Amino acid sequence: MTLRGRLTAAFLAVAFGPVLLGAVFVAATVAAVDRSRATERLAVAATAVRTSVDALCQQLRAAADAVAVTTDHAGTAAQVVSRGLASAVLVTDEAGRVSYATPDPPPAPWRDCAAPEPPGGAVSALVVRVQLRDAAGSALGAVAAAQPVDPAFVGRLAAVTGVAVTLLDGAAPVQVAHTTESGNGRDAVLAAAASLRGERVTGTTDGRYVRRAGPTAGQPLPLVLSVPSDQPPGLHAVLVAVVLLAALLGVAVAWRLARVTTRPLVELAGAADRVATGDLTTRVPVRSNDEIGRLAVAFNRMTRETGGYLTALASSRDQLRGHLAVLGDTLASTHDLPRILWVILHSALAATGARAGAVLLTEQGEQLVARCSVGLDDRWVGTGPLRVPLGSGVVGAVAATGQPRRGRVEPTGVASDEPRCRTYIAVPFAAPDATGGDAPGVASAAVAPGRPAEVVLGVLALYDRLGGEEFDDDDLATLRTFARHAAVAVDNVRVHEEAQRLSLTDPLTGLWNYRYLRESLRREVERASRFGRMVSVLALDLDRFKRVNDTYGHAAGDTVLAEFARRVRGEIREVDLAFRRGGEEFVVLLPETDAHGATIVAERLGAAVRDSPVTVVGHAGVRELVPVTVSIGIAVFPDHADTGPQVLAAADEALYAAKTASRDTWRLAPPRETSPTREVPVPPAARSPADGLPRAGPDGPAVGVPPAGPEAAPGVPTTGEAAAGSGTVGTGRTGPAGGASSGPHPPRRGHGR
Ligand code: GH3
Ligand code: MG
Ligand code: MG
Repeated sequence: MTLRGRLTAAFLAVAFGPVLLGAVFVAATVAAVDRSRATERLAVAATAVRTSVDALCQQLRAAADAVAVTTDHAGTAAQVVSRGLASAVLVTDEAGRVSYATPDPPPAPWRDCAAPEPPGGAVSALVVRVQLRDAAGSALGAVAAAQPVDPAFVGRLAAVTGVAVTLLDGAAPVQVAHTTESGNGRDAVLAAAASLRGERVTGTTDGRYVRRAGPTAGQPLPLVLSVPSDQPPGLHAVLVAVVLLAALLGVAVAWRLARVTTRPLVELAGAADRVATGDLTTRVPVRSNDEIGRLAVAFNRMTRETGGYLTALASSRDQLRGHLAVLGDTLASTHDLPRILWVILHSALAATGARAGAVLLTEQGEQLVARCSVGLDDRWVGTGPLRVPLGSGVVGAVAATGQPRRGRVEPTGVASDEPRCRTYIAVPFAAPDATGGDAPGVASAAVAPGRPAEVVLGVLALYDRLGGEEFDDDDLATLRTFARHAAVAVDNVRVHEEAQRLSLTDPLTGLWNYRYLRESLRREVERASRFGRMVSVLALDLDRFKRVNDTYGHAAGDTVLAEFARRVRGEIREVDLAFRRGGEEFVVLLPETDAHGATIVAERLGAAVRDSPVTVVGHAGVRELVPVTVSIGIAVFPDHADTGPQVLAAADEALYAAKTASRDTWRLAPPRETSPTREVPVPPAARSPADGLPRAGPDGPAVGVPPAGPEAAPGVPTTGEAAAGSGTVGTGRTGPAGGASSGPHPPRRGHGR
C-alpha cells in the first residue's frame, strides 16, 4: 500500500468515523424519543378508554337501576331506551326467564361490566345487571341494561382517545372484531397483539406502536391501542444519504489531503532519482515552511553544493591535466632547469592543493639553495636565493637524512630558516643513477646511509595544504612522483651540460675547442664593438714540437700539450678564454685588453712555458725533462682588424713573424696600412696598468709534476672531475674545468657575464 493510500485511509477514518457515529446517535435518539412519546400517548389513551368504558357502565347501571326501582318496568325501559341511556333493557324473573325486553336487543355474547376477571372471548355488547327485590328484600328477578359494542362504539372510543382502537375477537387465534386501523395496519396490529401482554408497548414492522388496554377489572373489553410513529418520514434515508455524502466527501478530501501531503515527497523522490543518474541541476519546489519545506531547501542546497564541488573538481582536474601537459612538454623539450623546476613545483602544488612550496637543490654537499618558490614569505622570495644548511630545519633534515617528512608545525618549533607555515611536506630527490638503484630519495639513503648528502640532489617542499588539514600519504606518493621528475630533470640538465661541455672542449687539454673559439671570437668582438671595448687575440704555437714527438714519443707529446694548457690556464684571468685550435696550436682571448696588456700576458705565458721543462715519460719508460718554448702572435680588435676572423688572421700573421724571427718570442701584428678613421675610446678599465703587472693569474707559475701515465695527464678533466668541480689544476681560477661550482658552465650562462 502506498503512503498516499495509507494517508487517505487515515484521513478518512478521522473524518468519516464521527459522521457515522453522529448519524447512528441521531437515529437512535430519534427512535428512543419516538418510542417514549408513543408509549406516553398510548398510556394516556388507555386511561381514556378505561374512563369511557367506566362512564358507559355507570350509565348502564343508572338505566338498570331506574327500571328496577319502578313497577312499570316496560314503560321505564322504553323511556330509558328512547333517551339513549341504554340500547336494550331486559327484565328477567328469578328463574331467569325474560319477562320483558325492549325490541332489537344486541346479539350475544354480552360482557358484564362488573366481571372481576373478564375472559378474552368475543364481545358484542356491554351489560349491567341489577337485582329486583321486594320490600322484604327477597329476590324477584333482575334488570339488565345493555349497550352494543359495534364499529360505531369503537369509532367513538378512537375519537375520544385520539389513537387507533381495535377490538379483538376470540382468545386464540386472535381475530379482529372491529378496528379503526385501515388495511395493512390492521394486520400489523393483529400480528403484534398476539404477543402483547399487560401494558407493554411494542413496535410493528410498519412503524406503529401497539399496546393492550384490557380486558381487566373495570374495563372488560379486549382492546388494542395503536399509534403511528412520530418519526419524520424518510429520516433514515436522510441519515443514510448524509452518511454516504459524508463518506464521499471524506474520500475526496482525504485523497486530496494525502496528495498534497505526499506530493513534495514524490517530487523529492523523483529529484533524488534524477540526481542519482547524474543530473545535479535538479531542484525541487519549496512549497511551505514546514518540515518538508525544510527538507526541500536542504535537498536543493545539497545538490547545488555537490554540483559546485563537482565543477570545482572538474576544473581542478582540467587544471591538473594542463599542468601535466605543460610538465610533459617542458620535460621533453627544454633543458632550462629553472623553468623545469618551476613547472614541477606548480604541478605539485596543483596536485596536492598546497598554498606554497619550494624546490631546493643541494650545493657542494653542504647547503640547500632555493631555486624556485611559490607563495612563500619575503625571506624565501626576497633578494637572493635562500640557503639552508644541511641538517637545519625540516628541509635541511630531509636532505641530510634522505627521508621524507610531513606534519604540522608547532608555533614554537619553526626553525628560522623555515617558511612560516602550519603544515608541511618535504621529499628528497636523488640522482637516478647515483645510488645504483632505480628509486631516488629514500632508497639512496638506504643504500648509503652514511653519506646521504652525496646522493640527494635536492628537496621538494610544500606548505599549508588548503583547508588546513595535514598532508597525507597520498600527497606523499604524489610528491615522490614529482620529486622523481625533478631528479630526472636535474640529472638530464647535468648530462646535457656535460654533453655540451664535451662538445665544446678538447678532451686532451680540457681547453675550449676550435668550434667554441669561433663562436667566442664572434661574440667577444661583437660585444667589444657594441660597448667600445678592445679584445686581444693571442695565437700560440709550440716551437719545434714535431721533434718532441719524434724524440720522446707521441704520448710524451700529449703530456707536454696537457701541461702547456695547464700553465696557460694558470696565467690568465677568469674572464680570459683559452682554446686548443688543433695540434700544438692554441688561442687565448683577452676581453677588454689592449695591445700593451696582451704583450704582457704573452711575455708571461712564454716565461711560464720556458722556465720549467716538462717532465715526461720517454720511450724507455724513463722520466725525462723536455724543454718547451712557444711562439706567440698578437692582434687586437679594433686596432688590427674589424672582425673576429680578421683579428685571428692578423694574430696568425704575427705568429708567423715570431716564428721566423727566432721562435720563443711574441710579435704584435703590424698596424693597418689604412688606419681606421674612427677612434674607439678605450675606457680606463681596459687599459693595462702602467706598472705592467698582469691583472689576473697566480703569483708565480704553477709547476706541477705530471703523473707517470699519459692517460691521466693533469688538467685533463674527466667527467667525474668536471661534475664534482674538483679538477687537479686551476681550481677556482679559470678554464672549462676550473668553475667555482660544478664544472664548466654552458656558454650562454658562463662566468656571470
Ligand atoms: P714549428 O712550429 O716550430 O715550426 O715546428 P713544429 O715542429 O712545431 O711544426 P709542425 O707544424 O711541422 O709540427 C707540428 C707537429 O705537432 C706535427 C705533429 O706530429 C704534432 N702534433 C700535432 N697534434 C699532435 C697531438 O695531438 N699530439 C702529439 N703528440 N703531437 C701532435
Ligand atoms: Mg704548428
Ligand atoms: Mg709548432
